[in-house]
Amino acid sequence: MNKQFDLIVIGAGTTGIPCAVEAANLGAKVLLLEKSHEVGGTLFTSGGHMSGAGTKRQKERGIEDSHAAHLADIERISHGTARKDLSTLAVTLGTETIDWLDEQGFEFHEKAPRIVYGHEPYGVARTYYGTESGLSILKVLKRLLDERIALGGIDLRLNTGANSLIEEGGAVVGVRTAEGDFTAKNVVIATGGFGANPEMFARLEGAPLVSAAWPTSTGDGIAMAEEVGAAVAGAGTYLPTFGGLPSPDGGVRIRWDDRPLLVAKERPPHEIYVDRRGNRWVAEDEPSIDVKEHALVGIEEMTFWTFFDSAALEASQPMVIGWSTDDLKAHANVLPGVFSGNTIEETAARMGVDPAGLVSTVARYNEHVVAGADAEFGRKHLPALITEAPFYAIQNHAITLITFSGIDVDVNLRVRKTDGSIIPGLYAAGEALGAAATMGKSFCGGLLAMPAIAFGRHIARELAAEGSYTK
Ligand SMILES: Cc1cc2nc3c(=O)[nH]c(=O)nc-3n(C[C@H](O)[C@H](O)[C@H](O)COP(=O)(O)OP(=O)(O)OC[C@H]3O[C@@H](n4cnc5c(N)ncnc54)[C@H](O)[C@@H]3O)c2cc1C
Repeated sequence: MNKQFDLIVIGAGTTGIPCAVEAANLGAKVLLLEKSHEVGGTLFTSGGHMSGAGTKRQKERGIEDSHAAHLADIERISHGTARKDLSTLAVTLGTETIDWLDEQGFEFHEKAPRIVYGHEPYGVARTYYGTESGLSILKVLKRLLDERIALGGIDLRLNTGANSLIEEGGAVVGVRTAEGDFTAKNVVIATGGFGANPEMFARLEGAPLVSAAWPTSTGDGIAMAEEVGAAVAGAGTYLPTFGGLPSPDGGVRIRWDDRPLLVAKERPPHEIYVDRRGNRWVAEDEPSIDVKEHALVGIEEMTFWTFFDSAALEASQPMVIGWSTDDLKAHANVLPGVFSGNTIEETAARMGVDPAGLVSTVARYNEHVVAGADAEFGRKHLPALITEAPFYAIQNHAITLITFSGIDVDVNLRVRKTDGSIIPGLYAAGEALGAAATMGKSFCGGLLAMPAIAFGRHIARELAAEGSYTK
């Protein structure tokens, strides 16, 4: 068995596949290690939204855009918290990454690019996605991987997790697996985030974990990098995705397929949002999802309930994407997190919310509706009183799809120690860097999947330029 390579890529997902393919195309002998039985990682569940400015597809549609405009949007949305060097690298590589996918036959959704409102929106139509979300990306990457494996250059080992990095003289020179040790001039950590690792999540993000992250996102690469002295960046930047139903099995996973529609621009709210004490905590019609996400971090257990009456249920559709009013009625008091009652008190008791608190909050909200102004939170959309029984509530957790902390790297994606020095032979990219690297304490649309692909290919090319490959 060959145990000597030019490059070892740990993780055959969004980052690892394009990294390995590009390196092999440029002459490297690559070992691609994948702990799962299949390649693809988070692409099996990802929305696969990607951003890029000045692309061929934008030009064909007459959309004017530039790197400067993309960067200005990232600066605005992240309030300057994203790393300038890495977000600039992402934006710069974004154009060619989208154009490259285009050339590779990526099946764009006909509406892409468009402005997407699920996160704080960009100023122009700059978000691209495929007809099958993340799977559209995987379709292209998998085909390229299969072709490259057939041509030679990549040794893909499925069901082969990396356990640790091998160090020699302060440099990383290989990877240890259950199948034995493998050596290489360089190692790339492309193992994804840690949204499926409650212990690491508690340690690095310090928040309650209710997760919809892909199950392989257990932070292995981050732990391995820490063992050889890598610094972790991004502390204090964690942000949840806004609201999702609890898991039917009471575990830490969210029902990602049944998503409450909470974007005010897509469904102006008839409901109020209350915390466990029954208190409102944000203007429910706040147009900025970023403002809502930041407010959610501040409430007890990062959990809230949308509360509404029968009239609202009929008037404001859909409360949960894909659910009719009859679906919601059928799920009430059956499915975890969906409640109904004939009085406010009865509903509150089922919700696990303070009944007296909820009664007085609804009374105050109704006064605001009558007055035509919300003196507490400045909500403007006050369509109707909440009075008509039965009443309904949907429990929403802050959801973790992605993690924000990760391995600290320099602008060349070389892993750094806490003193800022480089660990020779060790690179990292993708969510292993933490979302904060490119987005700071915010969600900038399409700024994880795209940089994962772009950074993976970039490392492969940089190493070729340094003459790190056999051919
Ligand atoms: C529901 C959901 C929706 C999302 N939507 C979007 C979106 O629309 N736009 C966007 O930009 N981002 C989105 N994201 C985030 C984005 O998809 C991910 O950040 C990105 O795909 C991660 O790429 P990656 O290469 O870092 O990790 P992955 O694609 O997860 O790949 C990591 C691979 O490494 C393997 N691995 C892990 N540990 C080891 C080990 N020890 N040894 C060997 N292999 C290992 C894993 O099995 C996996 O195959 C979403 C995430 C989720 C969960």
